[in-house]
Formats: sequence, structure tokens, C-alpha cells
Amino acid sequence: MAKSVLVVGGGPAGLSAARALGRLGIKTILVEKTGTLGGNPIQNHYHTLIPRKLKPSQVLGPYIKDVESDPNITVKLNTELEACEGEPGNYRVRLSNRVRLSNGETHEVGAIVVATGFQHFDPRRKGELGYGIFPDVITNLELERMFSQEGKLYRPSNGQLPKRVAFVFCVGSRDRQLGVTNVHCCRYGCALSGLQGSEIREHYPDVDVFCYYMDVRTYGTWEYPFYWAPQEKYGVRYVRGRIAEITYSPADGRLRVKHEDTIVQRPSEVPMDLVVLVLGMEPAEGTKKVAKILGLAQDPDSQFLIPSEESGSNIVSNKPGIFIAGACKGPIDIESSLSEGEAAAAEAAAFIGAKVTV
Ligand SMILES: Cc1cc2nc3c(=O)[nH]c(=O)nc-3n(C[C@H](O)[C@H](O)[C@H](O)COP(=O)(O)OP(=O)(O)OC[C@H]3O[C@@H](n4cnc5c(N)ncnc54)[C@H](O)[C@@H]3O)c2cc1C
Ligand code: SF4
Repeated sequence: MAKSVLVVGGGPAGLSAARALGRLGIKTILVEKTGTLGGNPIQNHYHTLIPRKLKPSQVLGPYIKDVESDPNITVKLNTELEACEGEPGNYRVRLSNRVRLSNGETHEVGAIVVATGFQHFDPRRKGELGYGIFPDVITNLELERMFSQEGKLYRPSNGQLPKRVAFVFCVGSRDRQLGVTNVHCCRYGCALSGLQGSEIREHYPDVDVFCYYMDVRTYGTWEYPFYWAPQEKYGVRYVRGRIAEITYSPADGRLRVKHEDTIVQRPSEVPMDLVVLVLGMEPAEGTKKVAKILGLAQDPDSQFLIPSEESGSNIVSNKPGIFIAGACKGPIDIESSLSEGEAAAAEAAAFIGAKVTV
């Protein structure tokens, strides 16, 4: 049996899987299709992470450093899995480098960890929300970049500080109009919006912040810091209702948020200066591609990867010797992705029968 392990995807889940395998003394190849390790939080410049309010570099930097310096781990950036042959324990994988345009290199590996993650919902698919039409309708991802790269809050249309900011929850999530692919909850959106709204109120106390929600889902211990504290400490206002449409009024140069308030049961139209769309999570294109190459089972609705029905484990795939971790299986937070990476590493090590000392 080949004794090395291939990890596909260099985000939180893949990094932690590779780091754990390297620490166990197992030769590991980590392939990442972009030129950067760290996955979505680093590639998309997230600002402050829930729940511990740390920067992505604080959480993921130590993993990247360990992976890059471990002699047991070979990191291949700009690289993708192209093909896989052989049998469990003796997989022959072909990798191709997207920059060097090589014909590919082949490696023998005993097991594979898939950690290819998610991609953000494209809000242009919800035309009524005005994204891509009105410059002051932005995504929460763009707000993160505004904070992390430019260090200030402004209206893209004129560079001025907004007086009123609206967060629109569940864009591309829990949405039956989009079909069964997008009915799942993103899990992070309510909590992150609570944090972003609080940050806005803390730094710009004159800016009013409104959160438009269907219902607020701040899981577990996130309830106080990211739901109650935004309201009680920072004065973020929560409005229940589904947004019907976002329009623009040339008369005052402001947006109009039209919605049905489901508590008082009447329609309303509120002027806003900046609208932030809270994006859902979908399986990454890379996840779908790898699923095809490796023959991994996908949920028929969401298309995320699903574990084997027989094993009882959340990490074991339907293919022996192939393990799945992190957001390639559905919305999940970073801490859980890191833990799943370690669990997948343990499964892979056991599968190849590695004799390890810890
Ligand atoms: C806007 C937003 C903010 C968020 N903020 C937080 C937060 O504050 N706190 C929190 O806990 N969670 C947050 N999350 C969730 C968090 O992003 C995920 O938990 C985390 O990124 C999942 O890690 P992952 O490694 O599974 O996937 P990803 O981060 O998606 O990483 C997957 C990696 O695999 C690579 N890849 C994909 N396909 C291939 C392929 N075929 N071959 C090689 N490489 C491939 C990708 O390029 C990427 O680097 C947020 C999510 C969103 C959408
Ligand atoms: S976490 Fe909140 S914003 Fe995200 S889908 Fe669930 S309810 Fe909507």
C-alpha cells in the first residue's frame, strides 16, 4: 500500500488535515488550486472572524506556517487533481499545474482527503435586490474587504459615510424560489452580521444599522455576543420581514428597501444609503469537479458532498480511503472545519496503516 496521503484544497480544513498528517510523520501532498493557502477567509480578505473576533491571519497563519515548514508536506499551489485511477490504498493521481500548463505529474497515494470547500452565492441571481445595478448595494464579502483593506465605511457611489445601513439576511439561502439547491441555511450569516453591525455602530455611532431577517439563527454560544449584544450594547435594530425589492430614488440619491414587515403585517419602504447582502454558501466548482473525478456521493438537492451511509462517521466518504472535511459538505464554521481536517487526517492515517508515535 502506498504510504503517502493527498490533501485536495488548502483552506482551513485542508490545512489542518495536512498539518496533522505531517505531524504524524506521514508524507503528504497538499494541492491548492489558487496561488494562496488559507481558503476563503484569506483569499477573500475576511476582516474579523466570529466567534473569537480574531483576524484570519491569527487563526490560519500558524497552520500555514507549520504546513510550509514541515519536511513531510509538499505544497503544490495553482494545482488541481485531474484524474485518479487504481484502488483504495493504491491510488494513482494525476495533478496539473494551472500556471505552468504542464501535462501533469502522477503520484501514488494511499488515501485522499477532500477539502475543496464552498463558493459564495452570486447575488446577481436575485435581480430584485439590485446588486450589480446600484453601486450602494454590496455584499457582506465586499464589506469585509472595505474594513480589512481600506479601513473605512463608505458608499461606493460617492465615497461618503452612509447615514443608514441595511443588512439583508439569507441572500441565496433558505430560498425556495431558487429551487432545492438553495434551501439550506448558511449558518454564519446572522452572527457575522451581528458582529459587522456592532463594528459599524462602535466606530460610527451616528450611523443607523438595520438587520432584515426571516428569523435569526445564531447557533449555540453565538446567541449573546452576536444577537443580543448588537442590540443592547450597540443599538443595531432588527426588522422581521422578507425584502421584496431594492430600488433607487434619483430625487435624493438613496436606495429604497421595500419589504413586508411580517410582525405588523404591512408593507413598508425605507430609505437606505448602503445595503449589505448576506451571501449564502454553495459547493465550490472545485468540489463538484473532484466529486466527479473520485466518484463521491453528492446530496441530490444542495450538491454538497455527503458521507458514507454505512460508516456512521461524518468524515468517511462513499469511496474507501477517501475522506471529506469542511465546507465541501455544507455550511460550517472555521473552528469546525479545522477539527474536521484533523479527524480526516486521523482516518487517513488509520486507513494507510501508518505506524505513528505521538
Ligand atoms: C462571507 C463569509 C464570512 C465568513 N466568516 C466566518 C467567520 O467569521 N468565522 C467562521 O468560523 N466562519 C466564517 N465563514 C465560514 C468559513 O469561510 C468556512 O467555515 C471555511 O472557509 C471552510 O473552510 P474549508 O477549508 O472547508 O473551505 P474553503 O475556505 O472554501 O477552502 C477550500 C479551498 O480549496 C480550494 N479548492 C477548491 N477546489 C479545489 C480543487 N479542485 N483543487 C484544489 N484546490 C481546490 C479552494 O481554492 C480553497 O482554497 C464565513 C463564510 C462566508 C461566506
Ligand atoms: S445563518 Fe442567518 S443569514 Fe444565514 S441563512 Fe441562516 S438565517 Fe439566513
